[in-house]
Amino acid sequence: MTLTVLNPATEEPIAELEQAGVEETDEAVARANEAYPGWRAVSPTDRGTLLRRLATLVEEHGEEIAQIESRNVGKPIAGARGEIGMVAQVFHFYAGAVDKHYGQTIPAAAGVAATFREPLGVVGLIVPWNFPLNIASWKLGPALACGNTVVLKPAELTPLSALRLAELVLEAGIPEGVVNVLVGKGSVVGQRLIEHPDVAKIGFTGSTEVGRLVMRGAAGTIKRVTLELGGKSANVIFEDADLERAAASAPYAVFDNAGQDCCARSRILVQKSVYDRFLDAFIAATKGVKVGEPADESTEVGPLISAQHRETVASFVDGEPVFRGEAPGGRGFWFPCTIVEATNDDRVAREEVFGPVAAVIPFEDEADAVRIANDTPFGLSGSIWTRDGARALRVARALDTGVLSVNSNSSVRVQTPFGGFKQSGFGRELGMQGLDGYSEVKTVFISTEG
Ligand code: NDP
Repeated sequence: MTLTVLNPATEEPIAELEQAGVEETDEAVARANEAYPGWRAVSPTDRGTLLRRLATLVEEHGEEIAQIESRNVGKPIAGARGEIGMVAQVFHFYAGAVDKHYGQTIPAAAGVAATFREPLGVVGLIVPWNFPLNIASWKLGPALACGNTVVLKPAELTPLSALRLAELVLEAGIPEGVVNVLVGKGSVVGQRLIEHPDVAKIGFTGSTEVGRLVMRGAAGTIKRVTLELGGKSANVIFEDADLERAAASAPYAVFDNAGQDCCARSRILVQKSVYDRFLDAFIAATKGVKVGEPADESTEVGPLISAQHRETVASFVDGEPVFRGEAPGGRGFWFPCTIVEATNDDRVAREEVFGPVAAVIPFEDEADAVRIANDTPFGLSGSIWTRDGARALRVARALDTGVLSVNSNSSVRVQTPFGGFKQSGFGRELGMQGLDGYSEVKTVFISTEG
């Protein structure tokens, strides 16, 4: 079966690929299994050197990969360059982390106990279409650093950057079989990875619905799982905030990547006393967001990923929104930046839209803000805007969410742990904590008697 890959900005085919099935998945797992003892035995320093080479190759081919990602996802080229820059940083970070993932020595009667971090074996990585190579690197970096071999399944809609990375992996000198990329359907290749007895762990990013399937499927073999799922993050604006700054940055916190971002601050909670002022400034700032052709250097927001996804996004806007921006007509899966006023009970405030639609919701006071922000099954990200440092810390501690920013909307850094509370998943990626998800702790007691 062949797969036609489209450019979402033009709807034109950009690649025809063979799709893997169950048999090819089993073969890839067998290759990874065979490569495992050798890769595990590579000394930490040498493994670090190989990862460093991969990071450098990604840098050297940065423009080429950014162009691939921009055409395949419809991402503005400037954003795609930033993402590929982060991919290189992730490999640099884990190249340096290989020999710093320490165990412990623990005093014990008649001897000493030591802990070691052991790799898991073959790990299956299933990634989505919104940040294809970026999210893949968050898993590949720590998985390889810990000595695992991998089978990576990119999303069907966006497999091209992962295929290019697989070539660079070999060019870096990482042995054959250590990284295997499979293009195929989630329900076939993904499902087989989840159930395969020789796969020790699934690192998954995607919808909460498929996350449930991963957990269920993994139960059969007690596989380890890391789940990075959906979000419905709150951007909480208090009356004492720097409203101009908060309003100027709010559009990018929800419309960036056309809203197809698990960290999108898609619920904007505003204190009633400043609601009208903030809304006016937010609309004015949104008017300045440049939606258009991804190859244009000044474009800030591109199209959605597919026609089907555009229908889903459109279904969240009923009635006349308080603001609807401009988007190109004609071919391409375009959707304008849209702002709606809502209550926290509305569907647009409860479900992940994954498109450029922001719901603005008023609140009375601090307690009300915390109650509304936490009234969601998700808990991935969020922001707090206030000039009161004590309040910032109090509210940050009260919110049930994994990654927060104060007077900022940025959530993701190479060196800091990233992951969710509640139905946004569990396990942490990035930072040194990312290594914990790709290794087991082994305790060894050494007797001093004798
Ligand atoms: P999915 O969760 O369906 O896709 C994520 C990955 O899982 C893809 O590689 C997909 O493969 C794979 N997959 C799908 N079904 C299975 C299965 N049964 N077993 C194993 N793997 C599977 O997300 P969608 O692309 O359908 O997006 C739907 C919604 O999910 C979005 O609108 C958004 O709300 C949310 N989402 C959240 C993301 C996040 O970053 N948290 C990322 C992407 C989506 P394939 O592409 O071949 O189907």
